[in-house]
Amino acid sequence: NAGLGSWPERRLTISPHRDALWFEGKTTSYAGFAERVRRTASALAGLGVVPGDRVAWVSGNHPSALETLYACGQLGAIWVPVNGRLTAPEAEYVLTDAGASIVVHGRDHGELADALRDKVPAVRAWVAVEPPTVGGTESLLYEHLLAEAAPEPRDLPVTLDDPCLIMYTSGTTGKPKGAVLTHGNMTWNAVNQFLGLDFGQEERTLALAPLFHIGGLNGTVNPTLLRGGCAVLVRRFDPGEALRVIEEQRVNSLFAVATMLDEMARDPGFRTRDLSALRAVCAAGAPVPLPTLRTWLDRGVTMQQAYGMTEAAPGCTVLDSADAERKAGSAGKPLFFTDVRVVRPDGTDVDVDEVGEVIVRGPNVMAGYWNDAERTATVMIDGWYHTGDAGSLDDEGYLYIRDRYKDMIISGGENVYPAEVESALLELPGVLEAAVIGVPDEKWGEVGLALVVAESDADLDADGVRARLREKLAGFKVPQHVEFVPGLPKTATGKIRKPELRARYQEDKR
Ligand code: ATP
Ligand code: MG
Repeated sequence: NAGLGSWPERRLTISPHRDALWFEGKTTSYAGFAERVRRTASALAGLGVVPGDRVAWVSGNHPSALETLYACGQLGAIWVPVNGRLTAPEAEYVLTDAGASIVVHGRDHGELADALRDKVPAVRAWVAVEPPTVGGTESLLYEHLLAEAAPEPRDLPVTLDDPCLIMYTSGTTGKPKGAVLTHGNMTWNAVNQFLGLDFGQEERTLALAPLFHIGGLNGTVNPTLLRGGCAVLVRRFDPGEALRVIEEQRVNSLFAVATMLDEMARDPGFRTRDLSALRAVCAAGAPVPLPTLRTWLDRGVTMQQAYGMTEAAPGCTVLDSADAERKAGSAGKPLFFTDVRVVRPDGTDVDVDEVGEVIVRGPNVMAGYWNDAERTATVMIDGWYHTGDAGSLDDEGYLYIRDRYKDMIISGGENVYPAEVESALLELPGVLEAAVIGVPDEKWGEVGLALVVAESDADLDADGVRARLREKLAGFKVPQHVEFVPGLPKTATGKIRKPELRARYQEDKR
């Protein structure tokens, strides 16, 4: 049985004394972790969980994420991580869509539990990981349940084809979709990732991104646990605290999205903290602007851009560390067990440097979307997942992700990829964040609107910004409009919500 529930059991036999987890000053060995997972499985079984049931988890980063995930793996139940920043109606949608029967929630989600208790009647038990700070007084207490539960091994009923979890996509382009990831998807992704990032058993990885997101969970954390290394957890992302923990815990690797890496680079600790143990920073989830890459490479940290998505559990490609400088800006090559192609609308492969849709195939690619065969059929064609991302391959076969097709701007018949323009904007002194969207235009059909967050003392104006961009980019790529804004709307995973920006700005430009 190679299902994820068996991983701690195997470690208990092979290497019980190695560190598995670190959280808020406390280290847990694999023996300790395996015992907690067994207790959690018994506690969930005591609440009536049977194979196929959905167990939701909603919290900031906490060991309970991994305990409940692996316990579900032992029971044949399906783990459903829920984005901790959703509003009550959004979380209600996810819990109802998944048909969750148990909800395990963090200390900050007592009010959410109270708001949803009557709205999602299929939930039989609400369990608080820690006593909630506000509300949630009716929830059962996780530690009480675990204390009463037996830490006995159990027969593991799963096969690699059984669902392990339902992971909802980031919701960057619309309503989140529930990707069903099997035990096989989890295992092959983990193997792909630790081969691609060159992990050893001594790996110490930092869980910086939320564990309810595929990158946070499977970018480096689960691969580290399969490899026998240690996952260092922080409750939530704080740039200064992250840098402190990297130094103190001698962290070797981490997964982050570009916005997190920028925030860390702007923190005073970026210069003063000892980052010498940090070997691999895996950056993915959104286009990584070149200035961000350069800042980290100049600091002596190997930054490896990777590319993936929830539907592929998530790893599809990674840039080999030996190529980090030479191919900066590329998302690299396919992971060991995954195939990647770039195709034209008629399905034929593109030529060198021609842009087409990225499609992926492999044992890490999802079974389909939960309860949505129709949508599954539109994206899974002959075993290939159609990503909706525009990309190209260079003469050595390295992949470059341009942007999402949904975000592409067509201006006077020319395709403009906002990510390229945003990258150029971020190189201008005084620009902190930037988003480029298309807005309607009588002459060109569509033109770019750049929304720029500037440093408070920056000396920038719209004409100046456009003039500077004209030095770097072809004229049709330079946004017609530039507006300064105090901030940009982002998803919990740090991605800019373009649909929200389009809704806000497209009307006024009409
Ligand atoms: P939704 O599907 O709900 O709109 P989402 O696509 O943002 O949300 P995720 O599965 O978290 O949800 O993100 C995967 C997407 O992130 C990819 O399809 C791609 O658009 C983008 N992405 C991931 N890695 C990279 C990268 N290295 N460069 C550019 N874009 C990337
Ligand atoms: Mg997506």
